[in-house]
Amino acid sequence: MFSTSQKIALAMAAAVLLTSNLMPLKSSPVMAALPSETLERGNQIPPAPAEAVEPAGTEDRQTAERPKEKTVDWRVEAGDTLNRIFRANKAPVEDLQEILAADAEYLHLETLRPGTRLGLHFDEQGQFSELILFLDPARHVTYSRQPDGSFVHHAFEEETFWVSEVLRGTINGSFYASAMQAGVTQAQILLIDQLLGSQLNFRRDLRAGDRFSVIVGHETTGTENTGKTRIEALSLERSARTHYAFLYDNGNYYDENGESVTPAFLRLPTKKRYRVSSHFNPRRLHPVTGRIAPHNGVDLATPTGTPILSTGDGIVARIGNHPYAGKYIDIDHGGTHTTRYLHLHKILVRKGAAIKRGQKIALSGNTGRSTGPHLHFEFHINDRPVDPLTADIPTAAAIPEAEIARFNKKLSERLNVMENAASPSDLAMKFAVCPTDLKMGQGELS
Ligand SMILES: [Zn+2]
Repeated sequence: MFSTSQKIALAMAAAVLLTSNLMPLKSSPVMAALPSETLERGNQIPPAPAEAVEPAGTEDRQTAERPKEKTVDWRVEAGDTLNRIFRANKAPVEDLQEILAADAEYLHLETLRPGTRLGLHFDEQGQFSELILFLDPARHVTYSRQPDGSFVHHAFEEETFWVSEVLRGTINGSFYASAMQAGVTQAQILLIDQLLGSQLNFRRDLRAGDRFSVIVGHETTGTENTGKTRIEALSLERSARTHYAFLYDNGNYYDENGESVTPAFLRLPTKKRYRVSSHFNPRRLHPVTGRIAPHNGVDLATPTGTPILSTGDGIVARIGNHPYAGKYIDIDHGGTHTTRYLHLHKILVRKGAAIKRGQKIALSGNTGRSTGPHLHFEFHINDRPVDPLTADIPTAAAIPEAEIARFNKKLSERLNVMENAASPSDLAMKFAVCPTDLKMGQGELS
């Protein structure tokens, strides 16, 4: 009755109950109960609190015998694995399998770097009931136990703001070195190369003295940076002409005339067309269990060994092997787009490699929890999965006529900022040019 890949999808869906893909802006109730100073420490035991040295006799026997509801705060250290963390906290390792099943559509638990903060919640009965993963200062996800023993994933996001800074520099040597010196990151330089690469050759066409300005946005909660950045505008001034790229509300980049400079994408990652065996569906209803679970991508009925192509230029952000998602690749396309490829047979690229649109990155397969060969393909805009078959993917289209006035207003604001706003890289350059100035205040001027 079901095709093989439908069965796979159903099996994955069965592992997750009522997963919501919606991201409420409010913090979870668990967060409210999680002020860090009251948390029990996992791997760093704090000095005993005052109540631990209460005089005998005041102790209430009933509460002493009953396990209390608690949340253990755990900072991941080098060498930590989820398995080890669960054992150390006496959380059932069987639950970990259910949690990984719930994470297969997200892969959030795949990047447990040292310093990552986790919370392990135990209920009044002392039963492990929820894993909390803090992604950045504005975002966390929870995996909560359901009555049937499965776990469900929820995402929470606080309101954030973008704060801009201007980085300016002059070409002296390579663009790469000059931009790095101005404070532009490696990933941002690669994006600049993609945005302007069709207009000039960065190795051949730049001369010493050519100037550039980049407006970099930093995402913040108001008190803390989340670590996310974006290029909001850039200009590169050569003697022949000045090149521009402006980020517009739709996540794409345009030049000063409203023509697209975002490299276009392929719709699907295969050369030949394959049957869609399961569609994107944020609230897919499992016909047998009646559970609702998201399917964050589209499944293509590719036989094992089918060449898989990157749908856009980008950088290999992650590769991995997940018990449910199988061998997978994440590609960061710069700006706001990422793609994901699951259940691969063989990965042909390395993490960090620069990839061209249409480049062969893998052979499709049947790895992970998959009972038949297929490719699961995801397309994300601003970290949200969208339907790859219908999403508004970047094409070579210009700004629509109706929005030109709005675009031009934004463009002139950003031009003004690039030309006139104070820049930290300008200040850094002044100090670098004149290091003896720093000593003047100390009376060392000759
Ligand atoms: Zn799928």
